Amino acid sequence: MSKSMQTIVIGGGSGGLAFAQRAAQYGREVLVIEADRLGGTCVNQGCVPKKVMWTAAELAHALHDAKGYGFNVGEVTHDWSALRVARDAYIERLNGIYARNLENKGVLHRKGWARLTGPTSIEVDGETLEAEHVLIATGGRPLLPGLPGADLGISSDGFFKLDQRPARVALIGAGYVAVELAGVFNSLGSDVTIFVRGDAPLRVFDAMLQEVLMECMERDGMTLVRGANITGLTGEPGAVQVCVQGGDIHGPYDAVVWAVGRVPATEHLGLAEAGVKVDAGGHVETDAFQQTNVDGIFAIGDVTGQAALTPVAIAAGRRLADRLYGGMSDRALDYENIPTVIFTHPPIGTVGLTEAEARAQYGDAVTVYTTRFTPMYHALTERRMPAAMKLVTVGDDERVVGCHVIGDGADEMLQGFAVAVRMGATKRDFDDTVAIHPTSAEEMVTMK
Ligand code: FAD
Repeated sequence: MSKSMQTIVIGGGSGGLAFAQRAAQYGREVLVIEADRLGGTCVNQGCVPKKVMWTAAELAHALHDAKGYGFNVGEVTHDWSALRVARDAYIERLNGIYARNLENKGVLHRKGWARLTGPTSIEVDGETLEAEHVLIATGGRPLLPGLPGADLGISSDGFFKLDQRPARVALIGAGYVAVELAGVFNSLGSDVTIFVRGDAPLRVFDAMLQEVLMECMERDGMTLVRGANITGLTGEPGAVQVCVQGGDIHGPYDAVVWAVGRVPATEHLGLAEAGVKVDAGGHVETDAFQQTNVDGIFAIGDVTGQAALTPVAIAAGRRLADRLYGGMSDRALDYENIPTVIFTHPPIGTVGLTEAEARAQYGDAVTVYTTRFTPMYHALTERRMPAAMKLVTVGDDERVVGCHVIGDGADEMLQGFAVAVRMGATKRDFDDTVAIHPTSAEEMVTMK
């Protein structure tokens, strides 16, 4: 006999947990089925451990910079494996907090792999469950290309399992994960080479961000191999070589990290049995209300292929629960103007249209303001890393449609500016805002 629930959530990651808790607040009986650890990618193999590593890397830079401020720091060593132990212990604490939060909110949780066996039925560990509503929030996993020797490399998941810092590292990929991990390795002392297929990393971001980031990476001593079409990996673990189309062989490297994208976690999920449609990339298709083509089945987060970020999955989940159980029939996530930060060194913050996107959409109505400077922090350091900012505006009233920053502090700077962009602020509103001095952020309201 099958057991019946009101709502079943497949996947206890950012989106699934946010939805489940909000649904339970509305009095709904909810079961979350999670195959692995609670918290999903963000907590276990993404944002959280990544930010810990980024902070360690920032500290390494700060220790170096301290000399300029009169400190005699002496010889600095770093213990990667001690950092890993401390980081993993922190994540375990978070896993526990997530479990307790579910309990406190009355959400049921079960460990296991879930598979849809029909539009309203799910199998988990041989047991069949029925639900009125099913939410697919299974996220994604790193893509390992089907190239010869590919398994000599590791993915971002493998990065978080490294016990020791490899001395020589190659990163393959041009997205934010590639440049973030490259920065961590480099700052903590590895010799880093990054292979990008095109001319620059971060192709989907504003060209100014790409250029300044490349300059900073090269100044930090990283090697960038552009136009690299990888044909495979050779060698052996600990001495891996990267083969590039045209015959060049690079390396050997102690570690090679694939950061070439992620694929939706939908295999063995029974989407076909339930009749759920997927797009060409295998992502679950939904409408603007996170509804799939099957009545009663919804999907949110990375598995839908839209803006793969934790706060997006959370926001979509909460809004869906508000709509289904909170009587807010129009509630849906607006996927425009989603701000994001890339934790490079220095970090990048960005929201809205790139200059190229704005020009393609609005042509001559676009006016762009830029600035580039050396932040005061670097007045006394050897590194003298630049900061750069761009405001993309549209129309006679110069509505700000894009805001792009690279420089120390950009990570904490952007959230407030994202509110302004979302509210339709104009360049005049920026100009009329009194600056905060002396900061880098003040440049955002003093651009000519
Ligand atoms: P996930 O968090 O991936 O959760 C899905 C869950 O479903 C997983 O726990 C999985 O085990 C489970 N699952 C899958 N299939 C099944 C099944 N059949 N049965 C049961 N359980 C199943 N985002 C940011 O906003 N900021 C960042 O700084 C950031 N950094 C990142 C760094 C890295 C290295 C990576 C890889 C990602 C990063 N992200 C970041 C992205 C962020 O982690 C994801 O966008 C977010 O976790 C997506 O949430 P989700 O709920 O869609 O899926």
